[in-house]
Amino acid sequence: MEKMNLIFTSVVSALPFIIIVVTFIVVRSVYLMKKRNTGLKDWLMKEDAAEDRRLTSIEKKKCPDCGTTFAESVPVQKCRKCGYELMRTHEDVDAYLNFMHKRYLRHVIPTCIFLSFIPILGFIIGLLYLKTVIINPFAQYIPFVRRFRTTWTLRMFVVFLAIFQILPGFGAISVPLVAYVKYWFFSSAYLEIIEGKRKDFARS
Ligand SMILES: [Zn+2]
Repeated sequence: MEKMNLIFTSVVSALPFIIIVVTFIVVRSVYLMKKRNTGLKDWLMKEDAAEDRRLTSIEKKKCPDCGTTFAESVPVQKCRKCGYELMRTHEDVDAYLNFMHKRYLRHVIPTCIFLSFIPILGFIIGLLYLKTVIINPFAQYIPFVRRFRTTWTLRMFVVFLAIFQILPGFGAISVPLVAYVKYWFFSSAYLEIIEGKRKDFARS
């Protein structure tokens, strides 16, 4: 009984923090959607199994047409076997980013909020989970030097938030905050490289 009370108190004290963070993330997502010309309903509800299968291949660094592993750590490249051009159009890029963002909203944030309630262990599990579901899908297409720089900038911030996880209330948003910052850093780095490439192509 006493334990139940304790859990209840910690959930209640965390609630305001959770509401602030979730609101912030939703507002940010709506803004992003406007930029990518997708409607909110589409983004959350639309399910296209064939498209998802292709995007899952790309996420695993495999060609969506023939399954060959992409050799380079760059977002724009050609399949060695069948010549499929990865991220050839703007739409391809948007589809991949939307696919990842959908996952971020639907799965990552709820899971991270839940993990935040488990002291220390939750934080560690959270970091491993984030690496698999939202960092690697971008990081594997980012060249080494850039990836290294991004990882190290983030490391300081993560250590800082890990310390705060032990605070009651605030602790509940430490993992979602780490998720937000990591996701943001890696997806922006990814997008920046693509845009840089496009400018190079336009010039040549
Ligand atoms: Zn291929």
